[in-house]
Order: sequence, then C-alpha cells, then structure tokens
Amino acid sequence: MNASEVNRLREQIATLGQSLFDRGLTMGSSGNISVRLDDGGWLMTPTNACLGRLDPQRISRLDRSGRLLEGDKPTKEQFLHTAMYEERPQSGAIVHLHSTHSVAVSCLPDINPCDCIPPLTAYYVMRVGRLPLVPYHMPGDPELGDAVRGLAGEHSAVLLANHGPVVAGKNLEAAVYATEELEETAKLFLLLRGENPRALTPEQVAALEQRFPRD
Ligand SMILES: [Zn+2]
Repeated sequence: MNASEVNRLREQIATLGQSLFDRGLTMGSSGNISVRLDDGGWLMTPTNACLGRLDPQRISRLDRSGRLLEGDKPTKEQFLHTAMYEERPQSGAIVHLHSTHSVAVSCLPDINPCDCIPPLTAYYVMRVGRLPLVPYHMPGDPELGDAVRGLAGEHSAVLLANHGPVVAGKNLEAAVYATEELEETAKLFLLLRGENPRALTPEQVAALEQRFPRD
C-alpha cells in the first residue's frame, strides 16, 4: 500500500466520520473508526477526537503490534477494534458508535442476548445478521476486549450493553453502511415494540444468507 493509498484512506475516514456526525449518528468525541492496512497495521481515529472534524493527517497510524507510528494517540477503545480484527482476517474496517437507537436497544431488559434485534428487513439480514449482546463492562476494561473476541469470529457486528455497536466490514464503506443499517433497524425495532411485528421467517432469513453471504 503506497503513501497515496494511505492518504486516500485517511481522507475517506474523515469524510465518512463527518457524514456520520452530521446526521447525528455520533455525538461529541464519542465513536471511533479504523481501517486495516496491508502492512498489517491500522489507521485509527485519535482519542478525544470529534468524528465531525477529523484532520486526516492527525489520524493515528499504528503498526501491526499496535504501536503508534504517525499522528495523534489513538482512541482509548483501540482494544475493541484489535479484538475484532484478530478474529476476523476478512474484515478491513471497523466502526464503533454510541448511536442513540442502538444504545437504547442495548439497555432493554428483555432482548435476546444471542440476537438483539429480530430480522425485520432483508437488508438488516444481509448487512448485519445475528447481533449478540456483550455484557456491560466499564470503559477500558480489558475483559471487554476478551468478550468481543469471543463473539467476533461468528459475528461481524456485536452490541455492547449500555454502550453501543461495534461493526466490521470488508472495507470502510461496507462497515459504515452496516452500522447505518443497524441503527435504522434499531429505530424500527423501537417504533414497533408492543406492535407484535411480523419479522422475516427462519426460511426467509436462510434464503437471504444463502444468496447474499456476509463476509
Ligand atoms: Zn464506546
């Protein structure tokens, strides 16, 4: 990966970060984005940075052991990203947000921890699939990384209880689209609570998974 490709990815992180921020999917300095580089390292958004105003050149560049090579210090949630990448060699990017509707679902007492949101739409099944809940941990608790690692092999997206989603994709665009699909489906799920909505049947879900396999 040459320097201009790395710069293109820096610009893409800043553009998509601003897009997420401008649409209210992330607030303040919460949320973080990472992209895997082909030298085994990563670009990662810096600690205390607002995704709406990222300076592409200050985005952290890490080597394959997670050491900072360029830019500002990376997000304190770096370990969430690393845990997910370790189990998902096919994933090229990760988005973690504290997006309101997804966080709301993560606080509900009666959701299925193996599958937090029912398969309400085909695009949710195609982009997110079955979403497990990771039990609550204090921010920065290394056991949270272990809990994510335990689920990431089977799932491209996990929902951290009382915290927010962590979503992987084959590239940054795919990870952002999946995060948006999850947030919109969380909104639908909350709108429909108490309505006994008709979700897709297990047969319909199986047919989608066969036709549109996720990474
Ligand atoms: Zn977080």
